Amino acid sequence: MVILKRIWNSIINFIFPQQCCICKDFLGIDGAICLSCVSKFDLITEPKCSCCGFPFEFKIKDSNKALLCPKCLKKSFKFDKACAAVRYDDFSKKLILPLKHGDKTQYAKSIANLMARCGTELAKQSDYIIPVPIHLTRMLKRKYNQASLICTHLSKIYSKPVLYTTLLRSKSTQSQGHLSSQERKKNVSGVFVIKNNSEIKGKNILLIDDVFTTGATVNECAKVLKQNGVKKVFVLTFARVVK
Ligand SMILES: [Zn+2]
Ligand SMILES: [Zn+2]
Repeated sequence: MVILKRIWNSIINFIFPQQCCICKDFLGIDGAICLSCVSKFDLITEPKCSCCGFPFEFKIKDSNKALLCPKCLKKSFKFDKACAAVRYDDFSKKLILPLKHGDKTQYAKSIANLMARCGTELAKQSDYIIPVPIHLTRMLKRKYNQASLICTHLSKIYSKPVLYTTLLRSKSTQSQGHLSSQERKKNVSGVFVIKNNSEIKGKNILLIDDVFTTGATVNECAKVLKQNGVKKVFVLTFARVVK
């Protein structure tokens, strides 16, 4: 039966390439995810750090208290609040990696839909949405910035404008993939610049990226945004590495 279903899906998807991004079942909508796959994401829920959104494994008795993780107790981050929709794991990778490295730009819509609910409160307080930028050389190779694609969809959902070219990456850096926490910090230090700070002065920004790993990249962006007069920086990512 499973083999027959696979053959049937292959035929249907060849004729109508509108399948679930993950299980490849026919859906009739391009870049969508079926309900069965949606239910398999490991959503990040309470209890979590009230600043960076790091999920805690234990229940807290006094739930009215604002909880902070060790990093946020040390005030390690320049952004004001961060939120991620799901944990970064083998399942969420099935959406992220094809969008990032496999030209599956249509996946950005599903990712934005999954991010939308967890970012509602942050979006309400924001004036503009800004994507974490990639360097021109990577842009020429990849042809798109996945964070910008996600921003385009979030902009429609939240009815907030996107500033695509205000925050730029001036230096090409090595991929953060296999770097330690300290190396990541060093790798992104001083690589972001602001092109025109008049439109962001005194404003609140919702910064968008696909994955929050150690927070080094979004933290460096937040630092530069604040140096250029931004009041508050909120961070919304699709996935978060939890370890
Ligand atoms: Zn599916
Ligand atoms: Zn924290």
